[in-house]
Amino acid sequence: IRVGWLDKNPPQGSYIYQKRWVKLDADYLRYFDSEKDAYSKRLIPVSSISRITSVGDQKFEVITNNRNFVFRAESDADRNEWIRTLQQTAEERKSKALERTSMSLATDSATEPADKSGFLELRGFKHKLFVVVAGDKVFLYKNAEDYRLGIGITYIEMNVGNVKEVDRRGFDLTTPYRIFSFSADSEQEKEEWMEAMQQSIAEALSNSEVAERIWAVESNRSCADCGSPKPDWASINLCVVICKRCAGEHRGLGPGITKVRSLKMDRKVWTEELIKLFQQFGNAMANQFWAANVPPSEAIGPTSSSQQRRRFLIAKYREGKYRHYHPLFGNQEELDRALCAAVTTSDLKETQALLFCGASVTCDTGDPQCPTPLALAERSGQRLQMEFLLHNKTSELGGLSSILLCCAEFSRRWCMLQDGVLSYYENDRNAVPNGEIRVEEIVCLVNNPPHTHGIESTFEVYTEAERLYLFGLESPDSAREWLKSIAKSFVHPCAEELLVLDFERLGRLHYKGGLTLERAREGWFALAGSMLYICSKDGQRQEPLQLRKLQELCAASLLGGRGHAVGSGGMPGPLLRPGAAGRTLYVQGERKLDFLGWVNAIQRAAGSSGDTLSEQQLTESDVPLLVDRCIDYITQCGLTSEGIYRKSGQNSKTTSLLEVLQRDARRVRLKEGEHHVDDVANTLKRFFRDLGDGLFTQQWAPHWLWATALEDEEAKVGKYRQLLRALPPVNRATLKALINHLFRVQCFSGENQMNTHNLAIVFGPTLFQADGKDYKAGRVVEDLINHYVEIFNVNDQEMKKQQDEIMAIMKMREASSSGTQQAGDFICTVYLEEKKTETEQHVKVSATMTAEELTFEILDRRKIVVKEKDYWSCFEVNEKEEAERPLHYSEKVL
Ligand SMILES: [Zn+2]
Repeated sequence: IRVGWLDKNPPQGSYIYQKRWVKLDADYLRYFDSEKDAYSKRLIPVSSISRITSVGDQKFEVITNNRNFVFRAESDADRNEWIRTLQQTAEERKSKALERTSMSLATDSATEPADKSGFLELRGFKHKLFVVVAGDKVFLYKNAEDYRLGIGITYIEMNVGNVKEVDRRGFDLTTPYRIFSFSADSEQEKEEWMEAMQQSIAEALSNSEVAERIWAVESNRSCADCGSPKPDWASINLCVVICKRCAGEHRGLGPGITKVRSLKMDRKVWTEELIKLFQQFGNAMANQFWAANVPPSEAIGPTSSSQQRRRFLIAKYREGKYRHYHPLFGNQEELDRALCAAVTTSDLKETQALLFCGASVTCDTGDPQCPTPLALAERSGQRLQMEFLLHNKTSELGGLSSILLCCAEFSRRWCMLQDGVLSYYENDRNAVPNGEIRVEEIVCLVNNPPHTHGIESTFEVYTEAERLYLFGLESPDSAREWLKSIAKSFVHPCAEELLVLDFERLGRLHYKGGLTLERAREGWFALAGSMLYICSKDGQRQEPLQLRKLQELCAASLLGGRGHAVGSGGMPGPLLRPGAAGRTLYVQGERKLDFLGWVNAIQRAAGSSGDTLSEQQLTESDVPLLVDRCIDYITQCGLTSEGIYRKSGQNSKTTSLLEVLQRDARRVRLKEGEHHVDDVANTLKRFFRDLGDGLFTQQWAPHWLWATALEDEEAKVGKYRQLLRALPPVNRATLKALINHLFRVQCFSGENQMNTHNLAIVFGPTLFQADGKDYKAGRVVEDLINHYVEIFNVNDQEMKKQQDEIMAIMKMREASSSGTQQAGDFICTVYLEEKKTETEQHVKVSATMTAEELTFEILDRRKIVVKEKDYWSCFEVNEKEEAERPLHYSEKVL
């Protein structure tokens, strides 16, 4: 309105006038050091100016409610011109303010409503400044008192702003004219300030095209609830345009009642149909229904307090207190029928009245072709009716909101999940979120065990940008509800089956497996207990993996790729489980943050979780891996060892072996020369003796002991068979494996001196966890070995296979003990990195050669120097089955 040089009266204690460049616009009187400055030294809101008077000597005084400013012009004419313009501007301002406040009770305040305010250090200022983020501007005040009075230093328009983190507490707000270096009191404070300023930039840059189109309708130019001008928010299901302060209160009512969106920021919700709906509907039509009977004493205005607003909005929209009742109110059937008729016409007003007087948006139309009102509207080509119905299908869209504790230091935030965005707010009345997470950017959800972070329930959300958000709640039930809702919104429909799981971890990862090893696919993974569930994007179902049954689990890196290999099922084992179908799965991480979590969680889930049988790592056939490893080893090295299972071995070695096997049996390789057979035999016995609930279980053990009294041999075997069926599957499989093993051991009693009776004396008290006095325990074991074939239903084929295996073992042992001729030496073809003639290498592999030794042998022969961070692995590749698996470095190649 007016600019020019003026002298400002000197500050106290000085006589020298300061030359200032002074600018007046409709909102502020500001002065600057020079005409080139973008940021003022002082701003005085025009609304706070009460009077302007001439004080002689070309001077004039600007009087505000509490402070006066004296300026000196170059001439009387100039001074008079300033006074005239200022008076006129202030007058205009006052009449506008009067207009606005005429309907409200409170007085207009000089200051902007703040999105965030508080003290910040600003480089170049001695004292902390009071900073206010309001709408699309950031205001600086000397102190809180000045903010209250409205007298500021300057404001920064955020359409040219940019916020950048500097260090733990510091951040820069840069503009083309100046860099403001702020420093907050804490890291969290800094985060909050940065978020608020970024929000302000978003608001400044927001697009007002939608708003302009909606404001084209007269009634939409003031808030439907309080009458404030230029409302730039809306409730998209109620079809009302509202101001920012009412929008904040609307949010508090929850998305089941009103779905709040910004006209300027939430651009993607504003489809052509929705804009048209707002143009046709508008505040006028909405209020004819919702505000048909508002007593003047209950109405609110632009300056009403948030409490007054809230009370009014609850009455208006939640209770429907001021509604214009539809004549069919109370008659559900009639209402539904009328709705079905209305949606086929263009009468939106009727649809509104019916819907908000009780008609059900999902009612049964009785028309099989169009079972819902939405389908009826579609058939009739009523696009706006469809749009209106769609936004009011609350039960299906269903947002979720409640107070969550957010982030590292757990500050309370009002959180809301709707339309694919999880947003968190300072409180439930704020309209602008502090931050938001788009669900499509979520890569992983983790449900932490109780009290992980000092409060009852916490969960973690990982995003593509490698950020981790930690949320907490006081109740596990609501934490679960949140997790399920978030999961539901980000999991691909093909993986919906994962949602019913009580998962600890859910997310997307890349993996290779089965027959397509060359290309990694994206899949959805869920970890629940020790089960890993996988759904591929192309809808292919994978059998869930029981992680306790993994044969191999290694975090491997092959040819430089970051990967994690999980192997399940068995490749043909050397002796005991030929022909089991192999399956190897390579899981790859794209982002370090969530992937490391997956690796740890899978490793943890693949370990044993307790001291009962079913909690152990298991083989494919449900036998604890520990038992399987020990039996394997004794079978290969101890069948002919004298006094096997009777001799006690070294106590300390047994203790430590049992400990490492219990920790992770998968990683333990028992090696001849390293482990004595008696130590291993003793470890197996110790495991059964200390087993939680015992092999025969507390419940059934007495029945087994009692059965030994049966005199009729056939009746006794029948009873044992019956009792065997009563055992849990893992106990049954383990008992079978053990008795099978003992059956073999007694086959060699000529050499090992352990016949059935001797074995029974050792194993009876061990398996029944009793002292040696009860002879019945030994009897059970003896009976089981003697009637092994009948009790366990062993068929001829199985029997024959076992005999063959025993023969093979014997042959191998004879050969190796005869010295010179190394049994099992084998010439193998090994390829380096890929299968080509140039990469072929023939190697003699001995029976004891490990994968590690083979790898070094090849590298050595190819003269490849292993550098740090190079990882080489040996893979077993079966061409016919197109399967491959990495070998554990200590695993024997043959
Ligand atoms: Zn309002």
